[in-house]
Amino acid sequence: MTEERAIPAAEAGAFLTVDLGALADNWRLIRDRSGAVECAAVVKADAYGTGTEAAVPALAKAGCRTFFVAHLGEARRVRAIAQDATIYVLNGLLPGTEPVYRALALRPILGSAGEIADWAEFAAQTQDAPPAALHVDTGMNRLGLSVDEGLAMAGALPFAPALLMSHFTSSEEFGAAATTAQIAAFQRLREAYPGVPASLANSSGVFLDPAPGLDLARPGYALYGGNPTPEALNPMRPVVRLEATIIQTRDVPDGTLVGYNGRWIARGPRRLATLCIGYADGYPRTASAADAKIASGVEAGVALVGGVRCPFAGSVSMDLIILDVTDASAEAARRGARAVMIGDDLDIDEVGKRAGTVGYEILTSLGRRFARRYIGG
Ligand SMILES: *Cc1c(COP(=O)(O)O)cnc(C)c1O
Repeated sequence: MTEERAIPAAEAGAFLTVDLGALADNWRLIRDRSGAVECAAVVKADAYGTGTEAAVPALAKAGCRTFFVAHLGEARRVRAIAQDATIYVLNGLLPGTEPVYRALALRPILGSAGEIADWAEFAAQTQDAPPAALHVDTGMNRLGLSVDEGLAMAGALPFAPALLMSHFTSSEEFGAAATTAQIAAFQRLREAYPGVPASLANSSGVFLDPAPGLDLARPGYALYGGNPTPEALNPMRPVVRLEATIIQTRDVPDGTLVGYNGRWIARGPRRLATLCIGYADGYPRTASAADAKIASGVEAGVALVGGVRCPFAGSVSMDLIILDVTDASAEAARRGARAVMIGDDLDIDEVGKRAGTVGYEILTSLGRRFARRYIGG
């Protein structure tokens, strides 16, 4: 693990604030709403970009005892700060890594006959192997045993699984047929594994009506402020705020070509501000504002300057974004002032949509050049 250098605020081009109080509130809201016996937290990808070393203790303090990560390396980091926690590794068992699971008391999530055979052999040799979970694929066709394999293996497994789990493909879509089919398949599996704790719901799964409940809820995105119900108002508190410094302003006449390849042309005299943030900071280049794209009805990026929505002008560059601040006050759009890239009226779901992606990718791409500040811890 590389130690990140703290960037002094006066030297930073952009500022990331992570609200750990909001993170804890979100976990409690989901715990209460889930109808599950226990509520875990998914903290893969550096706790969705918010920082494992800050997020995990905040969640543990709120009462979270079970964490899910994707990689073994992530599990090591969680174990270092949460000695008593139950830690599951979603991406399964890589060949030869069994001793690491044992040494750090981590739980693999097994999803293929090969993984199960390797783990069974290891467990037979060592006696004190940690418990393992079983992942059954009820529709994603990505990771896990097929439903038929899962049913066939019931009763024939050489060890008792600690958890039976599956993952939704479309739980954020209201009334998705896929969700109904996955719940039905998972119900058959549960009956084949009596007494084994079950886990199905991700963030959006928790907000299904009725929620699948079960033994363990497995939210990620919503903990970090993402909207688990994209077709309705976001019930979660925002966790991440990103601001970027205005480093120059200029007035340009009608017809001025702006940014790489001149893809954005000033319609009338405009005032532009250049921000100290770019795609090297994880702000997607796909949020670029090109005239051709705007004409075809595709949305481009925006930022808030003094509370006013200001559109991007031209391409997102590696280290810079140009903003059309004509509608903002001169005071709010001065050199040294900050534009809000994520926060207030501009949430991660909208930022993702305007970049042609999802808020998940915005969070997990958050860059390494920000001055990071944690509040509410
Ligand atoms: C990432 C992940 C989750 C969390 O999903 P969110 O939509 O972020 O709540 C849960 N389960 C599995 C298997 C995952 O990969």
